[in-house]
Amino acid sequence: MEKITANFALDELIYSPTANRLGIDNTPDKEIKEKLIRLAKEILQPIRNKWGSAVVVTSAYRCEALNKAVGGSKTSQHRLGEAADIKVGSKAQNKALFNLIQKMVSNGELKVGQLIDEYGYSWVHVSLPRTNGKPNNQILHLK
Ligand SMILES: [Zn+2]
Repeated sequence: MEKITANFALDELIYSPTANRLGIDNTPDKEIKEKLIRLAKEILQPIRNKWGSAVVVTSAYRCEALNKAVGGSKTSQHRLGEAADIKVGSKAQNKALFNLIQKMVSNGELKVGQLIDEYGYSWVHVSLPRTNGKPNNQILHLK
């Protein structure tokens, strides 16, 4: 598996059990591939380095059909290869990860589009800074 940073491979950012199950081709085009590489380099690897142990990507890129299948928002940064859902273990551990990322953002160590606690720390959504005029370093909690 081709690594794009010390701890992340492009395949991990494309792989989707749902896409496999439904026979959806989730192959990104060149532009999206470049975004995924930036996502790994600028967001995921710095988080992994700070956290100090494995960070699992549960979903990153979603083509339109896959995004529809998982009920994702039409304007989701996942569609653009700009967002990843990550987890490290239990909700308590995911909460610790979220707090660490929040600290990195407030320190200015990391610039994100959004940092979202999804459903009581079931997982953490993190994205590249947005270029569409929407606010960056936005921190949200979804119940
Ligand atoms: Zn997400």
